[in-house]
Amino acid sequence: MTNLLPEITEIWHQTLNWQPTVQQQAQFQRLYELILEGNRQLNLTRITDPQEFWEKHLWDSLRGIAPQGQFIPSLTDGTSVIDIGTGAGFPGVPVIITAPNCTITLMDSTRKKITFIEKILTELALTNTKTLVDRAEQIGQHPQYRQSYDIALIRAVGVASVCAEYTLPLLKLGGLAVIYRGNWAEDETIALQNAVNQLGGVIESIEKFTTPLSHSIRHCVYLRKVAATPVEFPRATGIPAQKPL
Ligand code: SAM
Repeated sequence: MTNLLPEITEIWHQTLNWQPTVQQQAQFQRLYELILEGNRQLNLTRITDPQEFWEKHLWDSLRGIAPQGQFIPSLTDGTSVIDIGTGAGFPGVPVIITAPNCTITLMDSTRKKITFIEKILTELALTNTKTLVDRAEQIGQHPQYRQSYDIALIRAVGVASVCAEYTLPLLKLGGLAVIYRGNWAEDETIALQNAVNQLGGVIESIEKFTTPLSHSIRHCVYLRKVAATPVEFPRATGIPAQKPL
């Protein structure tokens, strides 16, 4: 039996002022099937129900790149995006399906996850993609990657100040980091403010919203890079997570 993803066009319209084309809907469906298949060998995700997959993996991935419910305009041109700790490809794969003119680097420290993503990219005929097996602390210090992205996405990789240390060094001046979060507490804002001050960023906004099917609370934190990140950041592998700024 094939599990069919819902086609909830009116929710896409209401929440993101957008709807997938027939081709994009087919790519979402194939992505879902490939993840279900991959789950038999790899522990990719516990979200396998079609409605839940639609909401928590597809909709959630796209809501992050649509602050205030509108897609970031620069995604329509050659904007360079990196997804840090992409795991099974979230939020990066739904983003490149939706915005195929940008270039996206899907990065994770786990080789087997990136090998799986490479299969997905081939099967879905997604071009403008690169994959990278590495750690955020390493590439953040590498001249090939440091200060070279317009947008950095990060979901479920660590607390916000750790995500700030992973993302901001990789951004060009003026670039945007999108930190996907579930709940958010006021003291996290204070810790994050302290971190971004040291990293050359500012908190542009923190958006709270509810997901459209299960009405769960989510937050997206948007950081803007306004100054070069000092050379000591990101710190050596493991240190950001052990001693968050
Ligand atoms: N972003 C995906 C999502 O939201 O479904 C995956 C989240 S998973 C909980 C965290 C992922 O981040 C893992 O695949 C892990 O290998 C990766 N990761 C954790 N720390 C990392 C680091 N410092 N550099 C690169 N990848 C990292």
